[in-house]
Amino acid sequence: MTTRNCKVLVIGAGPGGYVAAIRAGQLGLDTIIVEGDRAGGTCLIRGCIPSKALIHAATVFDDLSKHSSKTGHMGISIKSKPKLDMPDLISWKDTIVGKLNKGVEHLLKKAGVDLVKGWASFKDAKTCTVTTSKGDLEIIAEHVILANGSESIELPFMPYDKNVISSTGALDLDKLPKQLAIIGGGYIGLELGIAFSKMGTEVTVIEALDRILPLFDKELVRPVSLWLKRHKINVHLSSKAEGVERKGRKSVVTFSDSKGKKHKLSTDKVLVTVGRRPRTNGWGLENMGVDMDGNFIKVDNRCQTTMRNVWAIGDIVGEPMLAHKASAQGEMVAELIAGEKRSFDPVAIPSVCFTEPEIVSVGLSPNEAEEEGIETVVGKFPFAASGRALAMDAGSDGGFVRITARKDNHLVLGIQAVGAHVSELSGEFISSMEMGAVLEDISGTIHVHPTLTEAFHEAALASLGHAIHI
Ligand code: FAD
Repeated sequence: MTTRNCKVLVIGAGPGGYVAAIRAGQLGLDTIIVEGDRAGGTCLIRGCIPSKALIHAATVFDDLSKHSSKTGHMGISIKSKPKLDMPDLISWKDTIVGKLNKGVEHLLKKAGVDLVKGWASFKDAKTCTVTTSKGDLEIIAEHVILANGSESIELPFMPYDKNVISSTGALDLDKLPKQLAIIGGGYIGLELGIAFSKMGTEVTVIEALDRILPLFDKELVRPVSLWLKRHKINVHLSSKAEGVERKGRKSVVTFSDSKGKKHKLSTDKVLVTVGRRPRTNGWGLENMGVDMDGNFIKVDNRCQTTMRNVWAIGDIVGEPMLAHKASAQGEMVAELIAGEKRSFDPVAIPSVCFTEPEIVSVGLSPNEAEEEGIETVVGKFPFAASGRALAMDAGSDGGFVRITARKDNHLVLGIQAVGAHVSELSGEFISSMEMGAVLEDISGTIHVHPTLTEAFHEAALASLGHAIHI
């Protein structure tokens, strides 16, 4: 077996690992990154990017369907109904994924990082064996960055197969299912469920809690619930899936409601999206002497584990399991190894839900601020009063921007929005919070007309008691 030594060894080339490796390479550190699947990780290969491609395609299809109705839409009508070719759609999505995968490989190379393809297994904290197609390779490193990511949780009574699928399976279907039952009404299940509904699938959601999207407050989720209702997506709340059996060409899901009454649902496919767990098994983590924090690897505010020079980033260290958090931690750890003074201390980590309509949340909601005992002022501005939203046919989904600030000094504590295209506002929201903006900073900034960002400006004005357009 060949043995190699390096300064930095990164395990996993997802958005945490590949960013850490590129930054380490830029800083002149001798770096090897090991990836057992394809460079890009969950996010790029089977998560953020392919799901957003599918969501975009579904929206195009849905828009065309509106224009092909009897009355047309916006004065535009199409005579025939749009056709959906699932294998073509999936191959378009795969082209995007392929481009980005090659892009990551190229960026690693450009930064002087060596990408080793194979599965790594640790025998102690700094020594691992990588099983590659050319045989085993031993790597001994001064610093190890663990970025092994996460995997879908499988329900023991609903094992994955051809008909019971995870989000990965849902992104690779060669045929549009007529019916889809989704177990779990979190963001992954609803993003995909709404996309399938737009493409013409009859979707049912079974959720154990008494509400969907529990990470976002009720006011934010209301427009999404309305969309689901209007589009006849059946949502069974306080309901627990209990099993699935095959009956002819159908799968029959058994679930019980809040009163314990049993129901049966016949469907073509079952999509299980009940959460993700850190990938901590099967690669020798137990030989590394690092402490755990529940299911996650325990780290401090510099992403240092309890073992010297072993670092961990991304989904494997805890919530929020988001790509941009993983990347930010990756960049920081590389800089720490290079001797820079850094710590992971963001004012907030933004989260976006690409449902219909979209949701963005940064910082505290009004209720969360209240629970912390802070006296607040809250301002809201509806997209129904935004010229740009109306001109984009996006002003009637119940969307709004909401700002929460301290009553005493007007420091902004949280910004949320729901509405079409609001994901693109998340950058301005998080920049304002990181820079410690007060309401007057936002109200005193000239925002471009006509854009959706004016709703942010108006929400700040509303918090100060003098919105112009409502
Ligand atoms: P991962 O991306 O999981 O990468 C870990 C990599 O490590 C994998 O490629 C794996 O093959 C490799 N690996 C693990 N163990 C080993 C080993 N022993 N040897 C070699 N290689 C190994 N997040 C967002 O921010 N926005 C979104 O819109 C979004 N949408 C999502 C949609 C879906 C359907 C899913 C499933 C996830 C989504 N996420 C989204 C979450 C996002 O994908 C993750 O938060 C992110 O990928 C985590 O990055 P990571 O680098 O920690 O791990």
